[in-house]
Amino acid sequence: MKGVIFNVLEDMVISQCGMQTWNDILDEQVSGTGVYTASESYPDEELFGLVESVADKLEMPMADVISTFGTYMFHQLAARYPVFLNQSDNLRDFLISVGSVIHIEVQKLYDNPNLPTFSYDTIRDDQLIMRYKSPRKLCVLAEGLMRGASEYYKTPIEIDHPVCMHKGSDHCDLVVRFDHG
Ligand code: ZN
Repeated sequence: MKGVIFNVLEDMVISQCGMQTWNDILDEQVSGTGVYTASESYPDEELFGLVESVADKLEMPMADVISTFGTYMFHQLAARYPVFLNQSDNLRDFLISVGSVIHIEVQKLYDNPNLPTFSYDTIRDDQLIMRYKSPRKLCVLAEGLMRGASEYYKTPIEIDHPVCMHKGSDHCDLVVRFDHG
């Protein structure tokens, strides 16, 4: 996982729980310095260990922490890389651009970022099915990111997750419903 993701987790924990909590979590989980360079790769297990400690400290289920982290991450990445959002003037177009335009741009920025793949079913106007595939099975993180995008575009959505890699499927279907009310 790229260091930028660790940087975002650090920002979130420090802004919500303070520096002491972040230092305690690093002491528990990390043998190195706990300083992460945005473009460097670090072991996935290290990130998951940190997230597990955050879940312990906040007494929240892991899935909730990962989803909340995804939403926070969206806003942080949006601030760092506004160019990715300028290309789409609505949430639906933005979500569709993630699998093609945005992930291609991210691959130019970061060496071998190991991104998930998305394919899309766009048949219905009021619905978008995003088919997620990744060996990391971080579909909950993807959901959190999508909720961040929903906040950014001020467009309410509902996300259903009827097919999931955690339930034995080889992919996840994230069914996004747009509220036209
Ligand atoms: Zn899933």
